[in-house]
Amino acid sequence: MKLLAGLIGFPLSHSISPSMQQAAFEYCGIDAEYRLWEVSEAGIGDYLGRLRMPEYLGANVTIPYKSAVIPFLDDLADDSAKIGAVNTIVNSGGRLAGHNTDSPGFLRALEEDGKFDARGKRVVVLGAGGAARAVVFALAIRKPESIAMVSRSVEKAKRACSVPCSDVTRCTPVTYDTLVNSGLLDRCDLFVNATPVGLRPDESPLPAGSIPRQALVYDLIYRPTKLLKDAEAAGARTLDGLPMLVYQGALSFSLWTGAKAPEDVMFAAALKALGRGA
Ligand code: NAP
Repeated sequence: MKLLAGLIGFPLSHSISPSMQQAAFEYCGIDAEYRLWEVSEAGIGDYLGRLRMPEYLGANVTIPYKSAVIPFLDDLADDSAKIGAVNTIVNSGGRLAGHNTDSPGFLRALEEDGKFDARGKRVVVLGAGGAARAVVFALAIRKPESIAMVSRSVEKAKRACSVPCSDVTRCTPVTYDTLVNSGLLDRCDLFVNATPVGLRPDESPLPAGSIPRQALVYDLIYRPTKLLKDAEAAGARTLDGLPMLVYQGALSFSLWTGAKAPEDVMFAAALKALGRGA
């Protein structure tokens, strides 16, 4: 029986997860296929019902359904419950369990690829969605001095700040209107873009003149973005979202299969899918 896994979200045409996961299945000799499951919000329940069948290993979940899938699951890992977002679903004998691998994937990329230790540091995070909350949850483990959550809506930023942070970390909601004149950008050590702004090559969430050049500028988008180009031009260190994508995908692969993920193979496949590899 061919096993199945896939990505649930909308829209999905840009995703490189199929290339990355398919390469991992083939390298490990697992007879499985990774598909794109583009669904409307009304169709989520039906899809998740299908996921309980024996041939389904599980799924990844992306924008905009990381929170919407939660009511359809039987079990929720503790960190996913605290973050309020699921990016990996595992089918175990017809029961569906939700996990969040974005959070450890983010932290590993920050530390291994960005060479950044968040302990005692000042952080600015743009966004208040599923990825931003996973970022705050991961950072809180390292006890930064402060985290500013930037959203267009102060209420959303406040909700994102309610993700459990360590008791030594201040988490403050901020709007874009106040960010530029707040002094936060001049003082921050790490600046994270956890919004989709930058998926179009001509857009950036921050004016080039406001780039915090003293900070590590980390864009979760896994293609080269205007933000990262502006940050490099300003002399800042930069990190894109590709290592995080591979690390979160590797964790999903292991949750579905119980096998160690071939990360080098997944990296190479992701680079190739982006037109950056051999
Ligand atoms: P999401 O839940 O839809 O949240 C997106 C956030 O971005 C929301 O808080 C929203 O803001 C903000 N936003 C959307 N459009 C905006 C705009 N025009 N201007 C300013 N803010 C805007 O999405 P997500 O799952 O958190 O994902 C966010 C990004 O992270 C995406 O680009 C995704 O591809 C990336 N990501 C990458 C990885 C990886 O492995 N590299 C993993 C997960 C996510 P407001 O609060 O202001 O409404």
